[in-house]
Order: sequence, then structure tokens, then C-alpha cells
Amino acid sequence: MTAYPRLLAPLDLGFTTLKNRVLMGSMHTNLEETKDWNRVAEFYAARARGGVGLMVTGGMAPNREGGVFPGAAGLFSDDDIANHRIVTDRVHDAGGKICMQILHAGRYAYGPECVSASAIKSPISPFPPKELDEEGIEKQIADIVTSATRAREAGYDGVEVMGSEGYFLNQFLVTHTNKRTDRWGGSYENRMRLPVEVVRRVREAVGPEFIVIYRLSMIDLVPNGSTWDEVVTLAKAIEKAGATIINTGIGWHEARIPTIATSVPRRAFAWVTKKLMGEVSIPVITSNRINNPQTAEEVLSDGCADMVSMARPFLADADFVAKAEAGKADLIAPCIACNQACLDHTFQGKISSCLVNPRACFETELIISKTDKALRVAVVGAGPAGLAAALTASERGHKVTLFDRAPEVGGQLNMARRIPGKEEFDGLVAYFSASLAASDVELKLGTEANAAALKGFDKVIIATGVIPRDPGIPGQEGPNVLSYIDVLRGKAPVGKRVAVVGAGGIGFDVAEFLVTGESPTENLAEWLQEWGVADPAEARGGIRAEGPQPEAPVRQVTLLQRKAEKPGRRLGKTTGWIHRATLQMKGVKMIGGVNYERIDAAGLHVSFGEARENPTLIEADTIVLCAGQLSERSLADALAAEGVEPIIIGGADVAAELDAKRAIDQGTRVAAAL
Ligand code: NAP
Ligand code: SF4
Repeated sequence: MTAYPRLLAPLDLGFTTLKNRVLMGSMHTNLEETKDWNRVAEFYAARARGGVGLMVTGGMAPNREGGVFPGAAGLFSDDDIANHRIVTDRVHDAGGKICMQILHAGRYAYGPECVSASAIKSPISPFPPKELDEEGIEKQIADIVTSATRAREAGYDGVEVMGSEGYFLNQFLVTHTNKRTDRWGGSYENRMRLPVEVVRRVREAVGPEFIVIYRLSMIDLVPNGSTWDEVVTLAKAIEKAGATIINTGIGWHEARIPTIATSVPRRAFAWVTKKLMGEVSIPVITSNRINNPQTAEEVLSDGCADMVSMARPFLADADFVAKAEAGKADLIAPCIACNQACLDHTFQGKISSCLVNPRACFETELIISKTDKALRVAVVGAGPAGLAAALTASERGHKVTLFDRAPEVGGQLNMARRIPGKEEFDGLVAYFSASLAASDVELKLGTEANAAALKGFDKVIIATGVIPRDPGIPGQEGPNVLSYIDVLRGKAPVGKRVAVVGAGGIGFDVAEFLVTGESPTENLAEWLQEWGVADPAEARGGIRAEGPQPEAPVRQVTLLQRKAEKPGRRLGKTTGWIHRATLQMKGVKMIGGVNYERIDAAGLHVSFGEARENPTLIEADTIVLCAGQLSERSLADALAAEGVEPIIIGGADVAAELDAKRAIDQGTRVAAAL
């Protein structure tokens, strides 16, 4: 008896049956743009082998003007069709099903040729769109239809028409972006004409036995977005126009409310999809921040949807479904919704991967093969780098011993998990623990490994991490000064007024920790209130008229850095704004360009500029030092003195800009090459 009876139940679509209720949602990985079709095929085939019911590709442009960026992939020629055939054949051979997403970006297309309902520039693009005339609209519809027929020719099982997230079709739906007075604007009937016409003509062109998913924006999260009545009206019209399935879109890309970041509670928007259940008779898919089979099962058993879309969880683990089926959910590498290796990469034009699974999108390059010469391998340090190295080496057949002086595995992850909004790190540590328990790694916790103990090993991998940098501020040895480690490990009480020295990733985390009482990530109602999200039946677009209503901060915090730039500028590309907005909502003062002069009982004394002008006292009961980190290499140095050449990874290798992404990637690659 499975623990996930609803999730693993087949879904009969009439002309075809999906083997379970799991959809791998669309992700733009930049893989298609490599034109390495074997690599693209292997990415999808691995997920098909892993048992997912249906997959949707990254968005394919229907034409040049609709591409997300110049050169975005699409089915423009016979060659493109033949290349996509390689992918669909491989997926079908692996027992999977795959739909191609047709993504017309409208005014989000990053180029001067972009088009939309009206000539209104998006706040997240420098390019004002051209307003389409009647002929132009006809061309866009025809291109989308051609894209769908080419997808069928390329062997896809269907298409997903992207109608949400503020893209082209969504731009026609709301008055925020559609100011037209012709038959494509004005009344809602006119504004929804384009998406409905697109689905009707796609269905007409592809015939009845082809999946047509329509991704519908159920809560726009932008001013003047759709009302709930409009959402339902559209859904009914889309069903009538011939869609097979309706998928959920949450929030436009320009929305100032987080929708997929790690601080968004799990299944935070399933209640929105639930409102549509019963309004249409075709299956409805829900999405956003569902990252494990238990949550997915609950979403289905609560009647929120007929099927669950998960996207990034399939970067984290291609075998998500197979492991759930086998009763090994604890061995599913969890997506922690950090965006660090997926979306942040996509937006930097790099190929996506995954912080917890460096093999994602690198399936043909990063091969974990069985070794024919088993070595005795010691790994010192059970943080992310050491854990990845130990598990990978063991998977390859090496005999691995993992040491850590701490009584638990996880290293710095154990501090990250204490930050409000970073609770997903709990799951990552649990996954590493379960994977170790299921492996042949010999785990020696509470054990200080020294040079003598490491003598008998063929290879020694040092993953001893980092130590805090000493900022050397006069007076920092006083009783009112703590390091971030003291604070996050709860070793010392922190006063009501706090100055945080250093506004890097850890400074931001510490500030968030200090101003937050109960984590809103653990309490959906509070989180929705904090960000000003309303029921779209009560407020257009789901934007609460009163705006964000955060809980009062539990401390008064000032966050400081020496660089004369906006604090937090270097945080994650797609998540930095959330950290900055959260701290602003909590009244955290952020000050750049300071010199730290001294600390005394009154607080932290700073000055500004090279001339050390404008002496200022930041009154504080506690000063927390978050001034970056240095490599902990004492063991590596001791080994070198004994003639042992260890392999050094993670923070022990390079402390600057260390994060779990680099640590896990390096640990995995080093072990793959042993
Ligand atoms: P970091 O991001 O490099 O920041 C170090 C901070 O300390 C900076 O604000 C720096 O600013 C300051 N600093 C450096 N030398 C100093 C000195 N001698 N005296 C006083 N201040 C000094 O390092 P971190 O905060 O320790 O974070 C470590 C790594 O973890 C980072 O790479 C980060 O990406 C990652 N991380 C990321 C996140 C996230 O994205 N949310 C969260 C946690 C950790 P000034 O030099 O301008 O003063
Ligand atoms: Fe999830 Fe982070 Fe991996 Fe992206 S990089 S798939 S958000 S764990």
C-alpha cells in the first residue's frame, strides 16, 4: 500500500492516460539553446525514467518577436523539428510523455521587436512593446498555431499554451496592460478573446487526440489584475475552446510578492486552484512550492486539484516519483527553493543546474560511474562539501569514512536552517542524514580527525569549512559583542537594539533572524497578510488594498557595511529583492560606506568616507559580527607537514563567496573524479 494513493493514481484524459498525477512543470534551463540535442534528450529522458506522469518543456518561442530573449529556442524549421524528435523519441523510449510549452513573452521579450496589447513598458524590461494591429494579432495567433502543429510533428504528446505569469496572452486579459478599444480590448469578453481564440485554433489544428494544457493566471498579484469571476469565466471559455487540462499560474514576473522563493510557505497557493475545482470539468493542476510527495498527496486529498505540478523538484531529483513509489521519499533530494543554481543561472544566461544536484542539466557530463579500484577515502567535515564528496565516493564503490567533530552532520546548513524563511534547510540536512544511513559510509561524528588518524587512507579529502573573519574593531572583545555563530546557535542572549557588522548573505540572514518572531513561512495566513495577498474574489489580482501588513519587528536592527553601495546588492539575482524587502518591512536600517571606529557600552561608533567624517554612534545593546569568513585549513596544513597531500574542497579551499551550491558541486565533482 503506497503512502501516496492519489498522487500515484493514473489520470485518464480520454484519448491517453497519464500514469500518475505528477507534472514536471516547465523550466527554462537554457539547455535547448546549447543545441546539444543529446544532452537535452538525456535531461528529459532521465526524468521520464524516474517515473513522472507528464513533463512540459521550457518555453519555446512561437516567433522571433515573442522569444524571451533574442535567440530563444523555438520550432522554426524542419531542422528544429528533427532535433526535437530526438528528445521526444528518447522520452517515449523511457516510457514518458512530454508536452512542449509555447511561450510568447509579449512585452517581457527582451528585445526592441517586442509586441503587446498596448504600448506600455513593463517595469522589468527596458523595451517598450509595439502595440499590435489587427493583422499583427492574427500573425501572432497563426505563429502559435504553427508552433503547436510543429510540436505534434516533432512527436510531442501535446503543448502547453503559456497564458500566465504576465506573458503575452496574460497581457491582453487585464486593463493594467490592455488599453485597447477594438474587439481585443475594453470588456472582459474582448480582453479574453485572444487566449480563447488561440486555444480554439490550436485545438482545431492539432486534432482531438493531442494534449492541450492552458496555463491560466489564477492570481495575478499585480494592480488591476483579474477578478475571480474573470478567472472562472476564462477557465470555462478555455475548456469550451478545447483545452485538455488547465494548469495554474501564480503571479506575474513583475509582481512584488514572492511566489516560489524558499520563504514562501509550502503549497502557499493551492487554495487558489481549489477555488476553480468544480467550475470546469477538465482536470486542473496546482503548482508553486510543493516539493515532496507528502505535500503533493495532501494537496490532492484536500481537493485542491486533480494533478500537481512540480518543476524545480525535478532538477533536485530526477527519480522523485520512482523513490516515492518505492517508499523511499526520505532519499529524494529536496528542492529547497533557493533559485541559486536554477533561476539565478537562467537569468545570467548560464545553464541551469541545482544546488542539491549538480548533475541536473549536466547528465551527459558529470557521470558518477562505479570504480574498478576501490580506495579507502577519508573525508573530514560533514558540511555540504564533505557530505557530497562522501556520498558520491561511496556511491562509486569507494570505502569512505566521514569525520566531523560536531555531534551532527550538516555543518553551516545547521545555522541556515535556523533563519526564518529557510526552514527548507531542515529537509536538506534530513536528506543527507537518510542518504548516509542508506549508504556504506562509515560516519564518525564527535571525532576530531588528526594527521595520525588519517595516515592509513589512500585519499584524504579536507572539507573543514570556514572560520569567521576577525574585523579587528577596537572594543570588540567587550561583553556586548557576539559572532553570528553565537547568535544563530542560540549561545547568548541578544539585546533589543542590535548593530550587525557586515551586510553579506550572513548579515542579512542574522538581521532577519533578529527581527522576526514566529516565522511567517510556517504560518500561511500570516505570510499572506505580511505580503498583502488577498483572495482574488475579494480584491482584483489578489492584492490587498491595505498593502503588506508585516508583524512588528521584535528588535531594532541596523545593518552595516563598509562598501558605499546599496546593502544586499550582491545577494541572489532572483531572491535578493525579497531579502531586502523583508528587512525594509521590518524597519531594519541599512547603512553603507561606514568605517568601524570602536565599540563601547553605548554601541558601535562609525564614521563615513576616506576622511573618516561625520562620527556617528549606532546605539546598540548588542553588536553582531558577520564580517565574512576565512578558510579553516589547520588540519590541511598539518597533513601537508607530514607529507600527506590532501584534496581540499568547499570553504576550506576558497572561503570567498562560499555557498552550498559551490560546496556540493565541488564535493561531487572531486569524488566523481577519484
Ligand atoms: P559575504 O557575503 O562575503 O559578506 C561579508 C560581509 O562582511 C560583507 O558585508 C563585507 O562588507 C563585510 N566585511 C568583509 N571584511 C570585513 C572586515 N574586515 N571588517 C568588517 N566587515 C567586513 O560573507 P558572509 O556574509 O559571511 O556569507 C558567506 C557566504 O554565504 C556568501 O558567499 C554568501 O553568498 C553565502 N550566503 C548567502 C546567503 C543568501 O544569499 N541569502 C545567505 C547566507 C550566506 P564590507 O567589506 O563592505 O564591509
Ligand atoms: Fe531547487 Fe535550489 Fe535546486 Fe533550484 S537550485 S532546483 S531552487 S534546490
